[in-house]
Amino acid sequence: PSGNILAFQDTLHASRNIIAVAGAGLSAASGIPTFRGAGGIWRKYDAISLATPEGFAKSPSLVWQFYHYRREVALRAVPNKAHLALSAFSLSSLRNQIVPHSTFTLITQNVDGLKTVAASEQPDLIEMHGRLFDVQCTNKKCQYTLFDTTSPVCEALSGTEELVEHGTLDPEIDQSTLPRCSKCGDLARPGVVWFGEIPRHMKEIDKLVQKADLCLVIGTSSTVQPAASYAYEVQEQGGKVAVFNLERSEGDEEADYLFMGPCEETLSKALGLMVSDDGKV
Ligand code: NAD
Repeated sequence: PSGNILAFQDTLHASRNIIAVAGAGLSAASGIPTFRGAGGIWRKYDAISLATPEGFAKSPSLVWQFYHYRREVALRAVPNKAHLALSAFSLSSLRNQIVPHSTFTLITQNVDGLKTVAASEQPDLIEMHGRLFDVQCTNKKCQYTLFDTTSPVCEALSGTEELVEHGTLDPEIDQSTLPRCSKCGDLARPGVVWFGEIPRHMKEIDKLVQKADLCLVIGTSSTVQPAASYAYEVQEQGGKVAVFNLERSEGDEEADYLFMGPCEETLSKALGLMVSDDGKV
């Protein structure tokens, strides 16, 4: 793959339907740990067993502590320069100066809700793995979802963040004190998509992937399906792929362009945008 920005920009300018597939690396500079990369706190945990329906069924209190902690971290985080660059690029008025007559959609695997004002005003952000701040009923007949609950989900979990930070989960938290559905009273769960579950908005994503002629792959180890396959699909239909990653990952070698380094630095440069330290684009 080429690391030549000018060559990438030629491709960018010739593209019409652009998608970006983002992973945990996009939010790393905002202080949100990644799953597999260096320095991730998940090295202390078997994150996979804390992110499955089976793990939740076995111990809802351990899983809730893990998610309560993640919610608290995400609440304190602010968008970094890579989020800001994507947000600016999603504004059609700005993007069309760079890439005339183009469309752009960010498909993120992240659940941290970190997006910027511009992205939240546009229907061009797909959070395929749900959101940490949504809370969903476990009762299949009810399935009530409470969206955007940024207030603490239950008393019993507050104060457990420090334990999680130090690699311990408290097995003593009583299940009856965990968050309950405000409609039917059954146990509630985090409104995220777990391993073994079907991601959200699949039809919409398939349509976007099928017509994409450029796919930006940002801060993902490309190990979680189906997101990991979107770049291949775009390439198969003749489109181009540009990867922005810190460490080498699955499929990098197949990319047309590869920009190694922190995406909060590489992305804005590649897109031809200037993002200042105070967040102005
Ligand atoms: P991952 O942890 O498997 O991979 C992270 C990737 O990001 C690595 O390839 C790493 O080299 C790269 N990276 C780290 N810092 C970077 C930076 N500053 N710039 C560019 N790249 C950087 O994450 P994944 O591929 O997203 O898959 C893990 C799953 O875990 C996803 O399904 C996601 O839903 C979930 N997850 C989400 C968050 C979040 O919401 N922020 C955090 C952790 C995990």
